[in-house]
Amino acid sequence: MSQSHQTIEPWLRGIIRCPQCKGEVTDVPAASGGTEVAELRCDTCHLAYPVEGGVPVLLVDLARRTDS
Ligand SMILES: [Zn+2]
Repeated sequence: MSQSHQTIEPWLRGIIRCPQCKGEVTDVPAASGGTEVAELRCDTCHLAYPVEGGVPVLLVDLARRTDS
């Protein structure tokens, strides 16, 4: 089993919410294409949460601001 892919488990993706506003987040595909997800973006908070090895890092402190 390869761990190199970035695909988030469907059951996990289904329960992911923005930790700040509890709203739904949008998948941001990786630049390389395919089904990889590079970030999970919240358009309400203007934050993008990183996805590392298929594991979303839902920490506001580690999120990238998208409005600057
Ligand atoms: Zn949010």
